[in-house]
Amino acid sequence: MLNENREQRIPKRVALHTLGCRLNLAETDAIRRRLEAAGYHVVPWGQEAELCVLNSCTVTQQSEAKSRRALLGIRRKYPDAQLAVVGCYAQLAGESLAEAGLADLIIGNGEKLKLDEFLPALEGRTKPLVVRPPISRKGFRMDVPAGQTGTTRAHLKVQDGCDFMCSFCIIPSVRGRARARQLDDLMQEAQGLVETGTKELVLTGVNVGTYREAGRSLEQVVDQLDRLPGLARIRISSIEPTTVATGLLERMGDPGHRLVPFLHLPLQSGSGRTLQSMRRRYTPEAYRSFAERALDLVPGLCLGTDVMAGFPAEDAAAFAETVRFLEGLPFAYFHVFPYSSRKGTPAARRPDHVAAGEIKRRTAILRALSDAKRLAYQGRFIGHTLTVLFEQPKRLNLAQGYTENYLRVEVNAPEATALRNRILSVRLIRSGDRANLATMHGELAEPPADQGSG
Ligand code: SF4
Repeated sequence: MLNENREQRIPKRVALHTLGCRLNLAETDAIRRRLEAAGYHVVPWGQEAELCVLNSCTVTQQSEAKSRRALLGIRRKYPDAQLAVVGCYAQLAGESLAEAGLADLIIGNGEKLKLDEFLPALEGRTKPLVVRPPISRKGFRMDVPAGQTGTTRAHLKVQDGCDFMCSFCIIPSVRGRARARQLDDLMQEAQGLVETGTKELVLTGVNVGTYREAGRSLEQVVDQLDRLPGLARIRISSIEPTTVATGLLERMGDPGHRLVPFLHLPLQSGSGRTLQSMRRRYTPEAYRSFAERALDLVPGLCLGTDVMAGFPAEDAAAFAETVRFLEGLPFAYFHVFPYSSRKGTPAARRPDHVAAGEIKRRTAILRALSDAKRLAYQGRFIGHTLTVLFEQPKRLNLAQGYTENYLRVEVNAPEATALRNRILSVRLIRSGDRANLATMHGELAEPPADQGSG
């Protein structure tokens, strides 16, 4: 509940926390930069602050529970702080969050980036303020101030919402219909990010391949970004299989274009019947022939996917089809999601749910297969020299970063921090190991020059 004895002054320290997807991360970063421009000083989540902001998630019931726990925890720790919850859970359950007194300010997806504008209205209020207007269907702007990101790789939101209505997904009801960010607005943010040191931009949205703005598609977005001085790499975070234009593949395959050879193409199931019940828009055969074409057009392509274990009515035969399908394509990895019934979706109303123990067993099988695929993909590059964009090191004397085709690489380097934000040639010498399967080991192919990033 609001503390009526709270000091009546503008809060100056703000702590922000993000749950959920990459899009939420990109949006939290935009909120942070707006708050900094308005004079707030950002401190890590969990540290004392006058304002705490949770960008929440509602994709599964567990995500909601996590959002509630985060709010309760911070309320208990800092009862005098102003507490704001924004994003998908706030959009879906604004009134009930207010009734439970879980936050002072509750803002849905439509207005959350303008959080700073609602803060003055909190002064003197004894009841939570809920801001949840209907989400517009029009293209949008974010008008993010330049600010500092301090990150080598940053997410750039280009699109929001989805019209596809897959039967397991709640996202269209909390993020609205598909709409695109205006090109000049996203280019302005991209330029600001690059000017403060970002070398790689990850294009993010709910359904990025449906980007359409003033007659332009995602190809024109990547071409504009390709012309941005100082930007080294453009990556598309995840893209629906039916929305990838051939032009995007051609750009990925063109060494002169900064769009990197990385395609995260959600599959969900290798069974035609299951795909149909999920209301996915392709058959396994169509996915396979598209993936094969992409692999032909883009040398060394990192092909990743999402797959769901235990969707309602997925029987042993359908699961076996999925396993065979995944075995048959050279995926570099998959993200495996155990099916989790989401209230409010058509799939949740089905009577034929798979038992929890069986979902767990199938998830483990798929994860083991993904590990094997990952090692096989890594193995193709042992002995090769690739360029690595080095990020902030996590361990002393160990520099780490990613290749264009998303191989995570570690290199022993006495001055690991000095390599941060530089692109250097690395010879890959071994795959990940049991302790860290996702990370290959390499050595610098040439000593780094004093300056520059390749
Ligand atoms: S494509 Fe399907 S899974 Fe993805 S956001 Fe849209 S409805 Fe959800």
